Amino acid sequence: MSSQTETDRSGPFDLLVVGGGIVGLAVAREAAAAGASVALVDREVVRGGDATDVAAGMLAPVGELDFGEPDLLKMNLDSASLYPDLCVELSSETGIETGYRRSGGLHVAPDADEAAVHRRMLELQVESGLDSRWLGPGRARELEPALSPSIHGAVFAADDGSVDPRMMALALEESATRSGAILLRGREIASLLLEDDRARGVRLADGPEILADETVLSCGAETGRLSWLEPDLRPPIRPVKGQVLELAGDPGDPICHRAIVSERVYVVPRPDGRVIVGATVEEKGWDRTVTAGGVHELLREAYRVLPEVAELEFLRASAGFRPGTPDNLPIVGRTVCSGLSLATGHYRNGVLLAPLTGRAVAGMLADGLDHAPGMEAADPGRFRSRAGVV
Ligand SMILES: Cc1cc2nc3c(=O)[nH]c(=O)nc-3n(C[C@H](O)[C@H](O)[C@H](O)COP(=O)(O)OP(=O)(O)OC[C@H]3O[C@@H](n4cnc5c(N)ncnc54)[C@H](O)[C@@H]3O)c2cc1C
Repeated sequence: MSSQTETDRSGPFDLLVVGGGIVGLAVAREAAAAGASVALVDREVVRGGDATDVAAGMLAPVGELDFGEPDLLKMNLDSASLYPDLCVELSSETGIETGYRRSGGLHVAPDADEAAVHRRMLELQVESGLDSRWLGPGRARELEPALSPSIHGAVFAADDGSVDPRMMALALEESATRSGAILLRGREIASLLLEDDRARGVRLADGPEILADETVLSCGAETGRLSWLEPDLRPPIRPVKGQVLELAGDPGDPICHRAIVSERVYVVPRPDGRVIVGATVEEKGWDRTVTAGGVHELLREAYRVLPEVAELEFLRASAGFRPGTPDNLPIVGRTVCSGLSLATGHYRNGVLLAPLTGRAVAGMLADGLDHAPGMEAADPGRFRSRAGVV
């Protein structure tokens, strides 16, 4: 790392990213690839334990569509469209395979009530111009033979896919480093450096200052409670707990070939044979306990749609925190403090939205724009009327 006074000061970098989950890594990678000098600080010594680490990795702009969220749909679709080329680039740059697949998602109805819900969502998907269609039980089981014979049909969402978030983060990190980004892991931050009301980087808890022209905070759910950030600058983000299971299957004879989704559970196959069963959605604050009830619910619901899950080896159960926001949109863009931006609040879609966020934030900073292009609806300014927040 280039040093100003060797021991206690580094930089100034063009960009300092705080938080090295999938979002921070995507921002760092884009900026470094475009020629910016980049440093990234993360408090964990090794990657893991964050939302990226436990995420199922569904890339589901269609499956995540809900009434009244057209801005989120557009961002989700735009980001999904970046995935194929990005994964090819990452593979050729780093040799790391991300497990990306665009195999569609199957939204299965285990009973008549859920079939009615799926049909309503199908209408919305078709009205929104998405490539989705209803499959009767027989046709659905031709596509996925392990589905329960008692299902009432399914919606096939052709544009959904999946990726292994841990491998994606690893590849982004490797690519960012190859483009010259400096990664500092296992370092706590003590304070934000301010000069004439402009953010100039951070001071680390063990002393050194990292100076930067622009600082981006991407600490996931933690971004809402960073002790070293003035309360006025903390974004309105809350942790939304999700419990998830990892099972081991046979890669040569997978239990399913694409994400199988019902109202209460999803089952996502990985290319190496692992199967992810997720996820609970719990408003429990910072409680990270994996509960017997959570595991039971996930297995019971997975068994209803894919009975063969009972045959798979149980590898582990874990829990993580989605960074939830008041309107389910991410919070991406400049804050009222010049030199300080946010790339956070991606809630259920952070893996899906990472490529677009990386590109939008790096583009905003490189071109000196006021908003992150393509993510204007996610601008932090939408919360400003609420008690001066961000
Ligand atoms: C169970 C579950 C399933 C999910 N499934 C999907 C899915 O299928 N598809 C999808 O698109 N999304 C999914 N998500 C959501 C997705 O995981 C998140 O939106 C995304 O990972 C957020 O990424 P992030 O980089 O913002 O945060 P994180 O991945 O949480 O990373 C934050 C990083 O910041 C670091 N950090 C925190 N505080 C500090 C600090 N004070 N100083 C320095 N560093 C700090 C952490 O160490 C960590 O590395 C799921 C989430 C959960 C919990």
